[in-house]
Amino acid sequence: MSDVKLVEAPEGIQGEGFFATSLNKVIGMARANSMWPLPFATSCCGIEFMATMGSNYDLARFGSERMSFSPRQADLLMVMGTIAKKMGPVLRQVYEQMAEPRWVIAVGACASSGGIFDTYSVLQGIDKIIPVDVYVPGCPPRPEQIIDGVMRIQDLVRDESLRRRHSPEYKQLLASYGIV
Ligand code: SF4
Repeated sequence: MSDVKLVEAPEGIQGEGFFATSLNKVIGMARANSMWPLPFATSCCGIEFMATMGSNYDLARFGSERMSFSPRQADLLMVMGTIAKKMGPVLRQVYEQMAEPRWVIAVGACASSGGIFDTYSVLQGIDKIIPVDVYVPGCPPRPEQIIDGVMRIQDLVRDESLRRRHSPEYKQLLASYGIV
């Protein structure tokens, strides 16, 4: 098992007996490798997510085995399935209850765009009500694609500045959704 590599060390300056890096990079590394997902699964894409959590694909390898069904103890909202317009306020409330920093993945065509349900009762993409960081295509996406989505989130998390959540741009983004 000697070829098992857990986490890359952040960029830094190495010398004999010391390693220097920035706080930004250490925190980014810690956050990226310990995401706590909240699965907001309403239909078939949720079944693919169950497979993603199972032993074959094993999301635990990415530090995300700890599912959170409480928004206050989650930092990654994974929306999987058709979101009816009546469900929209519930999804938004869940998002608002999550503490910063928080990230969102729209898993599958329905969450990303309404999918095949171009109808009066279905929300045509969750980005109509909350900001989305990563979209995973497919109907349904395979577990490999969901894992790829989680890895793209890890890239964002690893590189995010500690100041981003206090920046005027981020506040403006939330304000554009009417979230304060
Ligand atoms: S994208 Fe396809 S598989 Fe996923 S919830 Fe919609 S209809 Fe089901």
